Amino acid sequence: MDKHSPALFLGDALALDFLNSVATPVDTPVDWIEDGQGLLRWLEQAGLVSRETLESLQAQALPGELDKVADQARNLREWFRAFVRAHKGKPLKPEALAELEPLNRLLERDEGFGRVVTRRTEAGEIFDFQPMRKWRSPEALLLPVGEAIGRFVCTEDFSNVKACEGPVCTLLFADHTRGHRRRWCSMAMCGNRAKQAAHRDRVRQA
Ligand SMILES: [Zn+2]
Repeated sequence: MDKHSPALFLGDALALDFLNSVATPVDTPVDWIEDGQGLLRWLEQAGLVSRETLESLQAQALPGELDKVADQARNLREWFRAFVRAHKGKPLKPEALAELEPLNRLLERDEGFGRVVTRRTEAGEIFDFQPMRKWRSPEALLLPVGEAIGRFVCTEDFSNVKACEGPVCTLLFADHTRGHRRRWCSMAMCGNRAKQAAHRDRVRQA
């Protein structure tokens, strides 16, 4: 697995998937947003920015400009990782608002507007109010990520935010299972490894 493989979307929340855009799925660390091209691929896979918008921003970008935005995206990611690590596992307290100032500074740069469109449904074509934003520069690519983080902070119960119990795994997820017993980023990656390790222990003891 490398940065050209599809990114991981196991967090059950886009804001956590953003944190999981650097991970060690096998034994080599992969950073999916290591550079500008990686950031564009991740944003498209996450469904945060349309391919059309990404292509037009790429066509207009100056050399190195997208890589700089990827640097900023990684800074945003690591800032938010520290916030999530500090607050996960318990309800988020209103006092945490002061720590979110950098996020609010990012969000205030957003230039959103709405557009009336028609959309095809099973019942025929209907009118729809579609939120849009102006993409004045490649830096605007950080805005949908900021929006996902902002919505996550406002809607997610941080009691359910957990780190995978895999011994070397760094992935985070929101546990939306009914009994809140989720322990692994995924069965395929860490769950089965833990099962195999437990099995080896049992065999050794027997
Ligand atoms: Zn894991």
